[in-house]
Amino acid sequence: MAAGEHHPPTPDPHELLRAFLAARGGYCPRCRYDLRGLTSDVCPECRVRLYLTVGTPDPPDGMYMSAMILNTVGIATSVFLMLFALLFAAPWGVGEGVLLLLLLAGSLAALHVGVAVALVRKRRAYWRMTRRAQGWVAAGIGSLTLLPYAFVFLLFLLG
Ligand SMILES: [Zn+2]
Repeated sequence: MAAGEHHPPTPDPHELLRAFLAARGGYCPRCRYDLRGLTSDVCPECRVRLYLTVGTPDPPDGMYMSAMILNTVGIATSVFLMLFALLFAAPWGVGEGVLLLLLLAGSLAALHVGVAVALVRKRRAYWRMTRRAQGWVAAGIGSLTLLPYAFVFLLFLLG
């Protein structure tokens, strides 16, 4: 059985480029040379190799960027809390409170780093989710980021 028997034949990318330039024309992305009627896949003016691609004019997704920024604030907060515990609390003795803060902030930092890795590696899956599901993920990350602030606020109220 020949490969691709059950699929439409894959057009030669070189052929696609040539057909596109013959029909629509276009300019070299490097030197702006007019490529209409080009018969090779190399710009005759600057010799850069050319290919046909599908692009999008839309800017990066706002919801995804928000999730990223919230998570980065979360990383910064937990690292700051760890430094705070080490630099300010430790000289007066490494008590249980300092160790607890280190443990909590360290776990939070690890969690946020895991979320950052997941956001980058699974970004295509994220973009395929419904807007509502994307919102829930962003809100979840936001809650995680706000957690230490809520905790400090609670301590302030109780203290
Ligand atoms: Zn060129």
